[in-house]
Formats: sequence, C-alpha cells, structure tokens
Amino acid sequence: MITPAEIFPLMVPANEDGTAFEGYLTLPNAGSLDTALWMRLFDVPLWANTLQGAKLECSRELSDLLEGCEDTIEARLGDSPDVTSFFLELRNLLDKLLRFRPPLEPPPSTFYTGLIAEIDAVGWDRLAWLCPNLSALHIRISDAAGRDHMVKVQLPAAYPEAAPLVSAQLPEQVKLPPWQPGASSLQDLIRHYEAAIASLQDLWACLDDLDREAWVLEPEKPTPADAHRRIALGGHCSLLLELDPARPRARPPDLRFLGSEAAAAPMRTRLRAADAPPWDPGRLPRENLERLLQMKLPTRSTSAQDDISGDCCICYAYRLPPAQPPGAGSATLGEVPDQSCGNPRCARPFHGRCLREWLLALPTSRRSFNTVFGECPYCSQPITTTAS
Ligand SMILES: [Zn+2]
Ligand SMILES: [Zn+2]
Repeated sequence: MITPAEIFPLMVPANEDGTAFEGYLTLPNAGSLDTALWMRLFDVPLWANTLQGAKLECSRELSDLLEGCEDTIEARLGDSPDVTSFFLELRNLLDKLLRFRPPLEPPPSTFYTGLIAEIDAVGWDRLAWLCPNLSALHIRISDAAGRDHMVKVQLPAAYPEAAPLVSAQLPEQVKLPPWQPGASSLQDLIRHYEAAIASLQDLWACLDDLDREAWVLEPEKPTPADAHRRIALGGHCSLLLELDPARPRARPPDLRFLGSEAAAAPMRTRLRAADAPPWDPGRLPRENLERLLQMKLPTRSTSAQDDISGDCCICYAYRLPPAQPPGAGSATLGEVPDQSCGNPRCARPFHGRCLREWLLALPTSRRSFNTVFGECPYCSQPITTTAS
C-alpha cells in the first residue's frame, strides 16, 4: 500500500489525529517553482469514505498555477477515498498544468522560426486564432458542405520535441500516429483531422436533415460532436436515437421512446410489426422513421407547442437536477419524465418524483404498500405511482 509520503515526501501530517497535512509539493518538472509550491490540507473528514469538505490553503505560486481548476479540485476531493488518492490526483493535475504552462523564459528563437514555417505550410488563411505568447492556436477546416470546424492546438514549452495537444468537436476522437520530433508536423495533424471530417460528411448530412425536417428537443444547440437527437413525435412523446458515425444510415441499435406511454405504445408496435417495411440504408434516417412509424414527423411549423413538449406537466422542466451532491463524480444527467397519464386524451408526462410528491400532498390520494393511488392533476382520471 502506498502512503501520502511516497507521493509528496515533503508533505507531513500537521496534527496527531491525521486531519491536516502541510508542506511542499515536490514535482520533477516544477523548474524554478520547486521551493514555492507550499500547501496545507486541513479539515480532512476522518470517518467518511471521501475527502469532501476538506480545505486547502496554498502559496501564491501554487494558487496561480491552480487558477481555474477550483471545480476540478473540489470534485477530486469528493472522489478521493483517502489522502493518498487525493495526492495522486493532485500530482497528475499539477504534472499536466506544468507541462502546458507558458514558459517563464521565452523559448529559443528556433521555436518561433519553426512555428512560422509550420503555419506557412498549413496556410495563414486557415489560422483562426493565435495566442499572443504562441502557446496555442486554432486552425479552421471548412468541409465539403461549407461547415467550419476548429482544430485547437496547444503547444507545450518543449515543442516540437514534445507533442502538441490537439482537439476538435467531433463525435469520435481522431486517432493520431505517435508524435515523432523532427518528422511530425502541424500539417500532418491537420491532414488527419481533414480526413476524419471528410469521413463524417454523411453523418452530418443525416443529422442536418433531422434538424431541418423534424422537431429536435435535445440537444438544444447540437454541436458537430453530437450524434444523438431526441425528436418530438407529438402526444407528449419523443424518440431518442443515436446515429453510428461510421454508418449513419444504418438502423440505430436503440430507438427509445420517452414521455407519454399512451402515445408511444402504438408507435412501438408499428416499429416491431412483422409487416413493417425494412430499414433502407439507401435513405435518410428521418425518411426511414417516417416510413416505419407511418407518419410525417412533426416540425416547428406544422405542430402546436403544447402537444410536442415532453416536459413534466407538474414542474414544467424536462430534466431534473441530478440527485447527487455537486462534485460527487462525473457528469450525471438528471431524471427525465418517465410517468404519464394513462388517459389517451390527456397523456401528460410527469417525473416520477414530481407525481409522487403531488399525489402524497393530496388528502384524496390513497397509499397501499409501495403504490400511491390518486388523480391526474389535469384530467382527474385515476393515476398511480410508486411511493418511494
Ligand atoms: Zn417534474
Ligand atoms: Zn390526465
């Protein structure tokens, strides 16, 4: 088992009960900062399986380095079962920050001449942004359909000996060959991104068609990285589908109906019917859905808003905030409406939590074991939900 002292040898317990640590964070690549990274960790909860609630006091140099990472540190405290785990996370974070920290001394002149030659090769007209200290740049790639994509490049101080960090908003990460100092170049990287973007043209064509010809409820503002759509079907019901970036016209493995069950049930039956037309990969996904569901998908111009929304009719929201406390792990999505009135003429959707609270607050509701019996807040027809 590793101990805190093996990660940061100069961090020592500051009291007897083990709720505080204090000292210097020693890191191999801290350079001139090596005697300045002082930290005190205190109020460490002793009998919890997380460090949530523990506090940090940092030297000015360490605060400067960690600026903007406050949420990450808060989340790491919540994720870490003990001090050793937190120190490991902190060391990884600091390693990364130090690697991409703008150099304190200007890089050698070859860095500039080399970078300028690299941008020459890529084309200055495609340079969308250049950080004043030349530690980062954005390259624009226009695709065949006229969409603009931004490739973000971060240059470590030791570039081109060290590999740059490259990213773009795409549904899948672009696989880059290992960086070879002296042989690899920005132009090579951009070519890989151009190839990836070219291969995604049909995916975006299919998604653009859905955005144009259907009523997309989620994502509210789709980015090129989003391959999923939740589209309105009417009757407080919606369909969630995710296209395969490699085969966007193939039938999505999962077609999930959300919202009103009264509206979803007949559509689900149509999808599964033995005589349903087969999914035709020569057509757009939207055309296939319309053929299978035997309906024209509602659009913003052809349908009324109140029939479309899958929002909960008690709290008027779609997603509830996640039940977990903030910082308790990775991004989790909140509850969506998963209950609905069984009266087909009403069919309004509700969050289980909202419906339960609503029914339990009314004297007319009745509870038996784990079920609550009451009336729909809109049409007064009988409705039930679970009590916990
Ligand atoms: Zn609700
Ligand atoms: Zn109802």
